Amino acid sequence: MTGFALQQYLDFAYIAAVVLFILSLKLLSSPASARWGVLAGEIGAALAVVATLFHPEIVQYRWILIMLVIGAGVGIPLGLVHMTAVPQRTALSHAFGALSAAMIGVAEYYAGTAPVTRFAMGEIALEVIIGSLTFTGSLIAAGKLQELLPQRPIVYRGQNIVSLSVLGAALALAVALVVNPAHAVLFPVMVIVALIFGVLLVTPIGGADMPTVISLLNSYAGVSAALLGFVLNSKVLVVAGALDGSSGFVLSVIMCKAMNRSFTNVMFGAFGQVQATAAAGKEERVVRSATPEEAAAILSAANKVVVVPGYGMAVAQAQHKVRELYDVLTKKGVDVRFAIHPVAGRMPGHMNVLLAEADIPYDRLIEMDEINGDFPQTDVALVIGANDVTNPAARTDHASPIFGMPILDVDKAHTVMVIKRSMNPGFAGIDNPLYYLPQTLMLFGDAKQFAGGIVRELGGGH
Ligand code: NAP
Repeated sequence: MTGFALQQYLDFAYIAAVVLFILSLKLLSSPASARWGVLAGEIGAALAVVATLFHPEIVQYRWILIMLVIGAGVGIPLGLVHMTAVPQRTALSHAFGALSAAMIGVAEYYAGTAPVTRFAMGEIALEVIIGSLTFTGSLIAAGKLQELLPQRPIVYRGQNIVSLSVLGAALALAVALVVNPAHAVLFPVMVIVALIFGVLLVTPIGGADMPTVISLLNSYAGVSAALLGFVLNSKVLVVAGALDGSSGFVLSVIMCKAMNRSFTNVMFGAFGQVQATAAAGKEERVVRSATPEEAAAILSAANKVVVVPGYGMAVAQAQHKVRELYDVLTKKGVDVRFAIHPVAGRMPGHMNVLLAEADIPYDRLIEMDEINGDFPQTDVALVIGANDVTNPAARTDHASPIFGMPILDVDKAHTVMVIKRSMNPGFAGIDNPLYYLPQTLMLFGDAKQFAGGIVRELGGGH
């Protein structure tokens, strides 16, 4: 094969990979086609990697093979983690992606074939700064989500000024390097300052905001990869990085909207600090609880039931029991639908994925905006391990930290039943007035066991 023909094949493979990436994003936007979206993304990535391995510049494969084995050794166990650990696993993936982008930038600076031009120096510096801060920021995010680090925001006076000064120092070093790319001593200092900035950026953000931060870091990793594409003159990397960067950014915007928060509030608001007022002065209020038998009787007498799943369903892995409950109620002629809040659980699409795993028909999953108007005509809203996304204080209490967050209006249903283990709060750490309403019944217990108990009472299950 002549060099020219090989280059044409490679270009063709890269164009096909880019088309598959775009198709993947499109297919991922609906639960019905999401599996195909994942497949398209995987084939696109495999094509891009294999095509790159055919590059004539590669003189030997030994190190590539060793690194592939090491990468697979780390990646395969990471791919097998439990669904509830996916946010921190994703943060680790961004950390690795950003680290590799930063390291390639470092290699280009020190080992590039030609002396670095000013323009290339600007690209390398930006790429290395973004890659380095994304690396440490993502590690801190993963540590917080895995509870290896304190979840609460760690803040001190003048913090934002210190953080911005550190970022300013990294950028000043980058400018100095652009002015004189041969000033090699500045390069490692710039990398270290950027690494420190990543830590400072994420440490003051509370655990509750980590999924949004991870999505934003995903976007940074994409930008870093796109810049790397310019440095290496790789069009596929430019496009893939740009897709990653923009989709991560759009996702962060969607999450902020779903929580009625601004970007600056997420990044600098230190949301999730212990609130003295919220913790103090809780007067004794009455809650009513019910047994699985009572819950089963109420459900079988209902015409319309809306199930509201949340983080607790994921923790308990109750989705298969919920499917049995859906089956037995549907057989009895009850209309059962599922209300999906955009930030229920710990990552976007969390509930869709779990319910799809249990083969619940997609057309039974209804988005928040569409189902909210139906709650006044709903006989029973059955909340399974959800809390914050049903908290009516978001509509009524101006002092609440989640005031303004759109919620599922379950309190408007005729009867509300809530499966959870205790009166403990959810991720936002605040009390839920829903539990004290006269139409609410608390079903205390683990989501899987309690849902299983109701199914047995209804004569269903295997
Ligand atoms: P949540 O408010 O965190 O509440 C989950 C509830 O599940 C808890 O109150 C807990 O109560 C219960 N639970 C835990 N384990 C359980 C088990 N084994 N069985 C039964 N219940 C169990 O969850 P959510 O309503 O899904 O709200 C999601 C929260 O995450 C929101 O604050 C949202 O802003 C935040 N967030 C989500 C995303 C996202 O992308 N999804 C992104 C950013 C932030 P007990 O301890 O009493 O059982």
